[in-house]
Amino acid sequence: MTIVEIRDLTTSYNDAVPVLRGVNLKVEQGEFVGVIGLSGSGKSTLLRSINRLIEVDGGSIVAPANLLGGQRDGVIDILKLKSSELRQARRRIGMIFQQFNIVKRLSVIDNVLSGGLGYQPAWRGMLRIFPEAERRRALINLQRVGLLDHAYKRADELSGGEQQRVAIARTLMQEPAIILADEPVSSLDPKLSRVVLDILKRVCREDGITALVSLHTLELTREYADRVVGLKAGQIVFDGRTEDLTESVVDAVYGPSD
Ligand code: ADP
Ligand code: MG
Repeated sequence: MTIVEIRDLTTSYNDAVPVLRGVNLKVEQGEFVGVIGLSGSGKSTLLRSINRLIEVDGGSIVAPANLLGGQRDGVIDILKLKSSELRQARRRIGMIFQQFNIVKRLSVIDNVLSGGLGYQPAWRGMLRIFPEAERRRALINLQRVGLLDHAYKRADELSGGEQQRVAIARTLMQEPAIILADEPVSSLDPKLSRVVLDILKRVCREDGITALVSLHTLELTREYADRVVGLKAGQIVFDGRTEDLTESVVDAVYGPSD
């Protein structure tokens, strides 16, 4: 089943040169898609378009309504959703960033609990009063990323790799259908990168989550992605199975623009 279909997506920042130029991409449920390309090729822009962290100029991003929290059958165009529907859809789209984006002065478990706030009344977040069932869910998700023993530490006592695992646990609280991970391991060494990616890939497989992950090395992309999308100057120049990522494809993705 197709979980997201991007059609003719175009965007630019402040009217300058287009940053995405007619991107078409169809992602099937459960795929772990690696997004590669030179710095500035549009990887972050593409990922952020999907949950509308940035507004695009044109195109559509179509997804099954029920998977993104909608009540109705059929499909929705994420780009056309009004605020309450967009909020609902965003709950099912997790986001993981290079810099972890966790709150360092809070405990690990409070960071994880904040991931479920999209489903909770606002005052709970402000007072950090969470129902018992939420706490249980947070502990289960911490266990899934191997950090149960660290639940009551302050987040900044953890290493970078561990902080990114906290971010994964926090995202799982959303019960996401899709995870967008924008260079999730770019600030980690190769060994920790693999620890984090092993966990990310496992939880996605266990929960049937579709992942779009930009990775900064080809080696990691080859190891983890089922499928690879290569961006160059805002256009997709390769879209295929990881085993088809040949040297000539790599040259085309990373070589000079014509
Ligand atoms: P990548 O993630 O592949 O490095 P980005 O999506 O961040 O690429 O950037 C694509 C292009 O858009 C680059 O030319 C970059 O300079 C430009 N860009 C990105 N973010 C902004 C922004 N907030 N304002 C203006 N230009 C931006
Ligand atoms: Mg980027």
